[in-house]
Amino acid sequence: MIPTLVVLNAGSSSLKFQVFDMVDRADPELVWRGQYEGLGRAARFRVTQKSGALLDQAEWAAERGIDHEGALMHLVAWLQQYRNERSLVAIGHRVVHGGDAFAAPVLVSDEVVAKLAKLAPLAPLHQPHNLKPMEVAHRRLPTLPQVACFDTAFHHTQSEIATMFALPRTMRDRGVRRYGFHGLSYDYIASVLKDHDPQLAAGKVIVAHLGNGASLCALSGGTSVATTMGFSALDGLPMGTRCGAIDASIVFYMLREMGCTADEAERILYTQSGLLGVSSLSNDMRTLRTHAPSNTEARKAIDLFVYRILRETGSLIAALGGLDGLVFTAGIGENDAATRAAVVAGLTWAGLELDEAANSTGGPKISSSSSASAWVIPTNEELVIARQTRDVISAATLPH
Ligand code: AMP
Repeated sequence: MIPTLVVLNAGSSSLKFQVFDMVDRADPELVWRGQYEGLGRAARFRVTQKSGALLDQAEWAAERGIDHEGALMHLVAWLQQYRNERSLVAIGHRVVHGGDAFAAPVLVSDEVVAKLAKLAPLAPLHQPHNLKPMEVAHRRLPTLPQVACFDTAFHHTQSEIATMFALPRTMRDRGVRRYGFHGLSYDYIASVLKDHDPQLAAGKVIVAHLGNGASLCALSGGTSVATTMGFSALDGLPMGTRCGAIDASIVFYMLREMGCTADEAERILYTQSGLLGVSSLSNDMRTLRTHAPSNTEARKAIDLFVYRILRETGSLIAALGGLDGLVFTAGIGENDAATRAAVVAGLTWAGLELDEAANSTGGPKISSSSSASAWVIPTNEELVIARQTRDVISAATLPH
């Protein structure tokens, strides 16, 4: 029997999953990937082979819809039907917030579930959804090991000063500090940069995770020294629908002068801002690119996105004390050559120069032979969760 892992990433109405085989000591190997969408309403299930070929699908009408619990139990039954020579040995969960307490992935227990639930106010739009399948699996499949893998943990290497806000000490004691996110993505990039360019991996690197969520991370020798997201995943760069860093007084203005409730203000900043808010058109870079030639607002959204990336990159270069290379990743970073070209053009002062032909074909190396190098490297957060899950369950089963 091949030991198999399931990696789960739960959203408000979705549950994405990937199934990995664990073969010897090599990296876990992807077998199937799929998702449930529309949970709580009319729901759909779709699973594909590694090649992208459709393997199976199902639908539930709204009146007979399934929730996260129903989806997870459907997945476990589906795996039993399809598992062939496989035996499910663990589930790895993506958890956005590990707070101060979790600097590494951890085996799920009653105590861990309770501690993670207490962090929900720090990531109200992500954490409760992440925890739903974990609570269900822990309750319904109590003998199956579960591992929580955190987006914040990678940033625990940062200095205390890098994680502080200039706020009263009592607020820091309550956990109001910079945490940083997208750590599973940065962990993956740091792990593979060694194969692409070992010298660069040992140096000063900025990774630009530019997707629907977007952030930058300054890596020194592969460890995080600073990042653009802070207390929440709202900070830093403008994103698809999130505003990124804004003056905190704007929130008081929204509450007092615009008459927003706290929930309404939160919804505007998380879901109606960023590329969508500026363009009044779309949060999707492909749509903005299509309309940019004739639509001024679409152009402004893209220009602001690039401008903010350049401003924040300058700040991270200062935190690193220099720059040896820049890595682009995630949906926009991996696919939008024009954004990469604009960012590299704005960093000539930092020693970057674009190889236009390499950039138009996606690299992986997209810089000319200048002092600093630029790369395009597809991220793989699920593989990091699979690696971490394997390592935690292996350590847990080793004799002490
Ligand atoms: P992610 O959250 O990593 O899936 O990234 C989503 C973002 O990547 C969206 O803004 C997409 O428009 C963008 N994206 C995906 N593919 C492309 C592409 N071929 N060209 C430009 N942007 C893309």
